[in-house]
Amino acid sequence: MKATSAIRNKTLKKGTAVPATAIVDFLDTELRTSSIRDYSCNGLQVEGKTMVSRIALAVDACMESYQSAVKNGCQMLMVHHGIIWDGIRAVRGQVRNQMAYLLQNDLNLYASHLPLDCHPLYGNNAGLAQLFSARQIKPFGMYKGTEIGFEGVLPKSAPRDSIVEILCEKLKTECTVLPFGPQKIKSIAVVSGGGGDALVEAVTKNIDCFITGESIHQNYHTALEGKINVIYAGHYHTETLGVKALGSLCQKQFGIETLFLDIPSLI
Ligand SMILES: [Zn+2]
Repeated sequence: MKATSAIRNKTLKKGTAVPATAIVDFLDTELRTSSIRDYSCNGLQVEGKTMVSRIALAVDACMESYQSAVKNGCQMLMVHHGIIWDGIRAVRGQVRNQMAYLLQNDLNLYASHLPLDCHPLYGNNAGLAQLFSARQIKPFGMYKGTEIGFEGVLPKSAPRDSIVEILCEKLKTECTVLPFGPQKIKSIAVVSGGGGDALVEAVTKNIDCFITGESIHQNYHTALEGKINVIYAGHYHTETLGVKALGSLCQKQFGIETLFLDIPSLI
């Protein structure tokens, strides 16, 4: 915390190296990392170089994102889906290979899962709601004791197709639509990634359109009988906004270079 305050009081030039601990402390505080219950081990998962002058951002921890971060001269990689979930039981196979690569290349791996979904400014879901200039924003989508999504109303009613178009264009994705609700949409609810379980809550709250990343089988009849529109915009694509926002935040806070690595999953 002390290091973060010291950095905050200085005007740092672009390209300046910053202690990794200052970045980690700053983000842990901003994202309320320790107060949000999650099965992801959030925060610094793997410790690397002590000084950081360039940060890479990606949705997933995987060999491709590590190699790309190192190739691009980054000392830290920030991801939404990290490598450590509910602890590590054994360091073998793919886990061993990934750990070995990170350690050999001294690459810091910072992960933020639910804290980055639910954050009201930098989160994936805040970013999705902002795509539609949604107002009267309220937390939505209870998961493990935290509401990780948001619900809100559009400035004025919009055709269902225009909502789909905005998602496709802004997220560079393709959408699957269950068009069972009203043609004109006023209220929306968003839960990024695998948020299909929150559809029941959207039906209960009479939301016109529920937007999430991927489908679960039982959503079909829930949507049909609940007379609600559902748009699946892709797990990966609905979770790019959060890490991008962290990149902008670190640039602003530390004057540090950041780089988004677009490595979509093809499912
Ligand atoms: Zn996810």
